[in-house]
Amino acid sequence: MPCAMNHRLLPLLLLIITGITLFSCSPEPTKAVEIRGIYGNPKPLWEKGYNLKDLSVNAIFVHSGSINAEMMERARVEGLKVFAEFATLNGKNYVKEHPEAWAVNEKGEKVEAASWFMGVCPTEPGFRQYRFDQLRKLLTEYDLDGVWMDYVHWHAQFEEPEPILPETCFCDHCLSAFSKETGINIPDGATSEKAQWILSNKDDSWRKWRSKVISDWVHEIKSILKELRPQALLGLYHCPWTDREFGSARYRILGLDYDLLRKTVDVFSPMVYHERMGRLPEWVAENIEWFCDRLDIKNGSFPKVWPIVQASDKPGIVTPEEFETVLRGGLTTKASGVMMFTTWAVAENEGKTEVMKKVYSELMSRP
Ligand SMILES: [Zn+2]
Repeated sequence: MPCAMNHRLLPLLLLIITGITLFSCSPEPTKAVEIRGIYGNPKPLWEKGYNLKDLSVNAIFVHSGSINAEMMERARVEGLKVFAEFATLNGKNYVKEHPEAWAVNEKGEKVEAASWFMGVCPTEPGFRQYRFDQLRKLLTEYDLDGVWMDYVHWHAQFEEPEPILPETCFCDHCLSAFSKETGINIPDGATSEKAQWILSNKDDSWRKWRSKVISDWVHEIKSILKELRPQALLGLYHCPWTDREFGSARYRILGLDYDLLRKTVDVFSPMVYHERMGRLPEWVAENIEWFCDRLDIKNGSFPKVWPIVQASDKPGIVTPEEFETVLRGGLTTKASGVMMFTTWAVAENEGKTEVMKKVYSELMSRP
């Protein structure tokens, strides 16, 4: 009897042993997280007496206007990579001084600011020159590890629970460029009539052309970057909506076509600001998972995904616990870096500083 029992148990035992052996020999490969970042001037943390290395931070993302030689020097001493945020199509002051670059809506009127955002017309030649010159100056002055384009979309506001999604831009530059580049003849008439004709008859071509205008900007910025700093990366802060949200407004209104952008952008940084956009903290992981699948992101190759999550208590409160959820959520699936909005929000709250330190040091101690 005992002998018969052993015969029956033996295959089962072997199966269990084999399973354990296979499992221990083929663990899930550990994903390398290369960027443990902060977004915003590092001064608030430095003023609290921190060396960023002790917080396991290895990269800072700073508005280009805040970068100076002293900051660069200290960042290098602390072993940090420095990436400059480059405000691309936002320009309230620019349009005040250059009304020819003011975006025009479907009524033929100059657009109003979309809360704090004022999108400049992306086809106006003077503005293009102005921005590209600014970029050249920035890259010549500082040895940056990369440039992160911000506000790369047509006039709109997506960072609020109730987005502002106007139809633009029907200025003379845009209408003639659309006509010339697509071969579509727009019937004569007032601007509002031309706009109506396009939206009613040539909607597909219009959306496609607008996305091309945006991707051309990205392309132009990449060529300047490669010319002046060949090793530097090109990143993009962008609206994180899926293809269908808000009636496909990410493509239709903002002009962001991921299939075009992925050819040029080195690193995507979806702006997953859960609280500002009225979402739950868990949404961050869901969104990043969707995004990595949508772009077919692969470990160790370009394009990469380094999301920016929300730490800031504006307009509502983000608790340290929520901050931990979104920071970890930002590193879901194939994301290989993360940062938070903002450095100041982390520095002013000890709980959030501790969360960042804990999560980032865990990442450092991975084999
Ligand atoms: Zn225009």
